[in-house]
Amino acid sequence: MDTDNLSIAYIFQQQQLLVDANFNLPCLKLQEHDLHIQADPQVIARDFQEGEPIPNGYQFIPIRQLLQYWTKPQFEQASRAFQLLEWRRNHQFCSRCGHKTQQHKTEYSMTCPVCNFSQYPRVNPCVITIIRRGENEILLAKSARNTGQMYSLVAGFVEVGETLEDAVRRETLEEVGLHIKNIQYLASQPWPFPSNLMLAFKAEYEAGEIEIQEKELSDAQFFKLDQLPEIPFKGSIAHAMIMHVIHGTPVADDTKQWL
Ligand SMILES: [Zn+2]
Repeated sequence: MDTDNLSIAYIFQQQQLLVDANFNLPCLKLQEHDLHIQADPQVIARDFQEGEPIPNGYQFIPIRQLLQYWTKPQFEQASRAFQLLEWRRNHQFCSRCGHKTQQHKTEYSMTCPVCNFSQYPRVNPCVITIIRRGENEILLAKSARNTGQMYSLVAGFVEVGETLEDAVRRETLEEVGLHIKNIQYLASQPWPFPSNLMLAFKAEYEAGEIEIQEKELSDAQFFKLDQLPEIPFKGSIAHAMIMHVIHGTPVADDTKQWL
């Protein structure tokens, strides 16, 4: 078989990715509109076209599930592939003059041939905060959209003109009515739902009574570390932040290793 034109392929169908039973990616022939992710070995990303045959032994599974099986760098590459496809799909026309755009040959840019405006991929910064009260308690909140029992951390998007610390203070005050102090950066995680960069902070309770923003949350409480409710799954930054407070483990991997 001629393997020269084969690429490791991220094939997405919305938020699902094509993998085999061991969560490996398929090797497929290059196509004209493939988005190039990496050169050696060649890695590409492609939107699944309805009616296209699915290779034997492969199936679509939600990318969130891969967090549990893949290493962090693997998930980050999948997340990058997903976000680049989404960016390309959403920038087919120039946002300045409305003409059809063209993909730049050597960089990730959708460029307008009429007015030369370029649209680059964007990330949306989102702060997530673990708030401690004393040595033994953390604040956890239940999302109003969550019908299960899982509690997570206070999080929200950074607004234009804000520092990250401002966003941490504002989101905490808006969502749970508390004032916090000693805000410290911990780590970050790209989160492709749809194109966020999660920025993790820790902070200490300073003052106020819990008053939840009912549109966003259905409950928020300080929980003792040995009596936590159901928390976010392993692989999410919220999980790593909670483990950091309980066991002192690092939130970010300092070493990058492929499987
Ligand atoms: Zn234009």
